[in-house]
Amino acid sequence: MPRVRLNQLDSELRAIATEEYTFQNWAKTFQCTCEIMFEPCSEKQLIKIVQLAQKHNKPIKVFGSGHSPSDLACSRGFMINIDKMNGLLRVDKQDSTITVEAGMTLHQLHATLQEHGLAMSNLGSISDQTIAGVISTATHGTGAGFGCLSSMVLDMTLITANGELIQCSPHENPDLFSAARCSLGALGIITRVSLQVEPAFHLEAIQRPYKFDHVLSDWDDVVHSAEHVRVWWYPHTNDCVVWRANRTEKPIQHEASNWLMERGVGVHLYQFMLNAARYRPSVIPSITRFMFDKVHQRPTHVVDESYKVFMFDCLFPQYVNEWAIPWENSPQALKDLDEFINTSELKVHFPVEIRFVDEDDIWLSPSYKTKTCYIGVIMYRPYGNPVPYKKYWKAYEDIMRKHGGRPHWAKAHGQSAEQLNASYPRFRDFLNVREKVDPQGMFLNDYLKRHILLEKPLQSAAML
Ligand SMILES: Cc1cc2nc3c(=O)[nH]c(=O)nc-3n(C[C@H](O)[C@H](O)[C@H](O)COP(=O)(O)OP(=O)(O)OC[C@H]3O[C@@H](n4cnc5c(N)ncnc54)[C@H](O)[C@@H]3O)c2cc1C
Repeated sequence: MPRVRLNQLDSELRAIATEEYTFQNWAKTFQCTCEIMFEPCSEKQLIKIVQLAQKHNKPIKVFGSGHSPSDLACSRGFMINIDKMNGLLRVDKQDSTITVEAGMTLHQLHATLQEHGLAMSNLGSISDQTIAGVISTATHGTGAGFGCLSSMVLDMTLITANGELIQCSPHENPDLFSAARCSLGALGIITRVSLQVEPAFHLEAIQRPYKFDHVLSDWDDVVHSAEHVRVWWYPHTNDCVVWRANRTEKPIQHEASNWLMERGVGVHLYQFMLNAARYRPSVIPSITRFMFDKVHQRPTHVVDESYKVFMFDCLFPQYVNEWAIPWENSPQALKDLDEFINTSELKVHFPVEIRFVDEDDIWLSPSYKTKTCYIGVIMYRPYGNPVPYKKYWKAYEDIMRKHGGRPHWAKAHGQSAEQLNASYPRFRDFLNVREKVDPQGMFLNDYLKRHILLEKPLQSAAML
């Protein structure tokens, strides 16, 4: 279809449009240049954009904060960012529920909730993402008794490909609701979301070093040793740290921070050393041992507002891969990964991050009907420089596949639509809902064609 030019738009759309906008994800691993990017302020403007896309047969991709480490949010057609649609619509302190516009970021949500004495029950490592972005990929935190963030959604509103505004909940359009709570942007534009939250609380977090083989042999006890448990394993070693957090009535307490060790050695020296290791990867295990001894094995203790304690510093750009596997398979999967790392010539970065998520009933959630252990691997890109990661990813994915894994949707992975269909019992139901609300494929992009459309050959995404 011929390009659409800004002078073909009416004045209202022209005022919110940028031609040939280049989108790049946070990790700078994927980018695309779209025909026009729109930044609407209202559902009315969004409907006009959908009608324009219909008229010119253009695909649409909405993006949030661009934090997905894959081409999930990329498109060469129209792109839309709804950051300006970030208002509070309703709050009910009695029931601990809130309705917000879907472009609100988690940071903005925490501030809004705090004003009303409320808080999210669980969170991932950062809060830069939008509400629509986190629920579109079933973003998760950790905690044996806590589902992914999409499991906290009570109802939501979408604009579908025919420009219709549809509300869904367990009682209204329930199939759309089951599909839309992890929908990868494939069903339409999410504009409003209601969430179940809880009264604001303090979390007490304690982190301690352990021997990894001891943790693996006490796995069930470790998983249930606190409300929220996260394990960081240092590959090439038998060391790990376990972070445990529980709700508490205690007042805010911070240990005197050792800025030099945490930021100076912890971030800057680590980045410098990893950059040097690009020329001599054999030193990576020594860097890992040095970092563990000097920074990470120091026990830490903090009590603070929950949303602050959940946050972790993700340092600098990185390649990441993360799969969810059934809880009970995780010790063996980690032993297999350890064996691969110790017997291959590859040298890999720390940490391997291990988190726990309760099962849910969301059709495309990696925790659908399964209590899952997320195992995340990382290769940092010091100063934005490339590092080899593909052989590591291949071996890691083979191990995750062998143990019944499902990849995190936001992250670049090598699972075909056919393989995903085999691991998600409601995959075809999701595709049926998609076909119904978007028969022309307005909301499809390359990622979705590769990973959710059946009977299509799998081409891998071109990472930068
Ligand atoms: C440093 C870092 C830390 C992270 N930590 C975690 C973690 O702890 N746990 C975890 O599970 N994940 C984590 N992630 C992944 C992240 O939570 C997801 O990639 C999330 O989807 C990003 O949200 P976003 O707003 O940036 O969305 P984007 O990446 O911009 O988009 C993600 C998807 O949402 C869709 N989308 C966005 N807005 C809308 C809308 N309004 N309507 C319909 N679809 C929409 C897009 O089309 C796309 O398919 C992390 C990522 C980074 C870079």
